[in-house]
Amino acid sequence: MPITDVMKKQLAQRRKLFFKICLKCGSKNSISATRCRKCKSGDLRLKNRALAAKK
Ligand SMILES: [Zn+2]
Repeated sequence: MPITDVMKKQLAQRRKLFFKICLKCGSKNSISATRCRKCKSGDLRLKNRALAAKK
């Protein structure tokens, strides 16, 4: 079985990129979250999606 380091790297990068940041409290939320799990604010932004689009 070949070592799929590149795939692991890509997966890790995707995992890193696929979450949302709360604009109010700055906590991490899942990509599917519509509201912050901490403060229930709806002001979420996507994290670094531009990086993922480059590759
Ligand atoms: Zn929040």
